[in-house]
Amino acid sequence: MKVFQGKSIINGIAMGKVWLYKKGKQPVQKSGVRNTAAEVGRFQDARRKAVEQLRELYDRLLGELGEAGAAIIEGHVMMLEDLNFIEPVEDTIISQSVNAEYAVAVTAKNLSRVFSAMEDAYMRERAADIKDVSERVLRILRGTAEEGIQAEEPVIVVAEDLSPSETMQFDKDKILAFVTKYGSSNSHTAILARTMNIPALVAVDFQPREITDGSFAAVDGISGRFYVEPDERIVEQLEQRKLEEAGRQHLLKALKGRENITIDGKRIELFANIGNIDDLQTALQNDAGGIGLFRSEFLYLGKEAPPSEQEQFIAYRKAAEAMGGRPVIIRTMDIGADKQVPYFQEGQEENPALGCRAIRLCLRKPDIFRTQLRALLRASAYGNIAVMYPMIISIDEVRQIKRIVCEVKAELDEENLSYKNIEQGIMIETPAAALLSEELAAEVDFFSIGTNDLTQYTLAVDRQNPGLDSFYDAYHPAVMRLIQMTVENAHKAGIRVAVCGELGGDTRLTEQFLRLGVDELSMSPGRILSVRKTVREINVSQL
Ligand code: PEP
Ligand code: MG
Repeated sequence: MKVFQGKSIINGIAMGKVWLYKKGKQPVQKSGVRNTAAEVGRFQDARRKAVEQLRELYDRLLGELGEAGAAIIEGHVMMLEDLNFIEPVEDTIISQSVNAEYAVAVTAKNLSRVFSAMEDAYMRERAADIKDVSERVLRILRGTAEEGIQAEEPVIVVAEDLSPSETMQFDKDKILAFVTKYGSSNSHTAILARTMNIPALVAVDFQPREITDGSFAAVDGISGRFYVEPDERIVEQLEQRKLEEAGRQHLLKALKGRENITIDGKRIELFANIGNIDDLQTALQNDAGGIGLFRSEFLYLGKEAPPSEQEQFIAYRKAAEAMGGRPVIIRTMDIGADKQVPYFQEGQEENPALGCRAIRLCLRKPDIFRTQLRALLRASAYGNIAVMYPMIISIDEVRQIKRIVCEVKAELDEENLSYKNIEQGIMIETPAAALLSEELAAEVDFFSIGTNDLTQYTLAVDRQNPGLDSFYDAYHPAVMRLIQMTVENAHKAGIRVAVCGELGGDTRLTEQFLRLGVDELSMSPGRILSVRKTVREINVSQL
């Protein structure tokens, strides 16, 4: 038995087989082949397998996103069956006597160059599709499984590190737990694990060579320990804890349908934070009063091009409809810092957390921003959507945004597309925004306090750096004072104020937030019933 210590993200217990995640795309090697006919056969087998995989993915997405959402995959299948793709690959193998991997990579490069040079924006976007389908064929040829978990039963995913986009590409049903060597408890990857309600350990002190793929392991989210090949005694102990945890969850379930009301009658809204539409189900199961933070940037991650207006519209509409009239607050994309995408990168930044992130990127790339706003406004016709903007630091930014929103609405009017006059709010997650909250409150309909970044920027402590976890003190009096100031200024102006950072689900602060008069707490769905329990045990009028 080997035991490793890490930091726990969620108090769950998991036992099962290890699935070692290896990242990184290897460069394609060119090598000579004698039997070109056999190599063409290898390519054709891989291509057919890719088509098969895509058909399965199509069926899955059809259920989740509907026809329009799955259409992208249909396009990918067509590309793989197009002679304009197949023939150059075969010609390259035969004429140059080279391996299939090289022929696929060269063909993909040439075709994507042709598409990228086209006038038509739609055709230009096809360059990314060509890369995508070729990568799939390459993975099959190499026998690597970068995209999904290739295991029959759910597994414990063990990795050196996981970026948010890598984390979200996994099929949630196949994961028992995450274990990473690096990563901090405040990173977006940790937040994703919390949202998925999957036990996760970060900063676990192991060397990848110490762990064998497929070995039996256990994650103890209470002590933060990771056991590889645990002995019988440990397995028994963990089974017992698992039962106790299940009992606690059962008791919490009894709170479903109950009000979020203190002993002395003070109410508070408890909403869910989600990263994609798959999380809606967990939000509903946990009785979320609404969605307080839809981190829309997860629709942009792990892709070669930004999601189209239609793809976004489908996702936002789905969220609005699933919540059946309850509020759904969609945050415009917060790309940047640890959530990078290749298509927005304009050179390396020295300090990405202080760089072109979130609303800064949107205001620099207004076309991309407009596409998101159009999707969001169109979806508003189907439910109770509100929009909020991240990383605000000035009044001027808010005014610029509002001007753009007005222009987008005028565009939709011209096209006879319906939308609602949705509420617009901002995140208070920079000290600048908190300090200007009095003036900002006059500009918007609500505030939502992002305590994760507010802590990072107030204390000048990188939330991504696990070595600084002891300095990352979200209870720091400076952070608390900024929260208090924001709540007071919001209420003075008569607008609502929420807390949507990780502190929103922290029961040690629930009473303080109630006393301050916070109107809404938004958190990982799995936290809602625990916070409801705490709310119902508090008496705010008692000193
Ligand atoms: C926050 O900063 O508190 C927040 C909710 O946004 P994110 O964690 O996505 O940066
Ligand atoms: Mg933030």
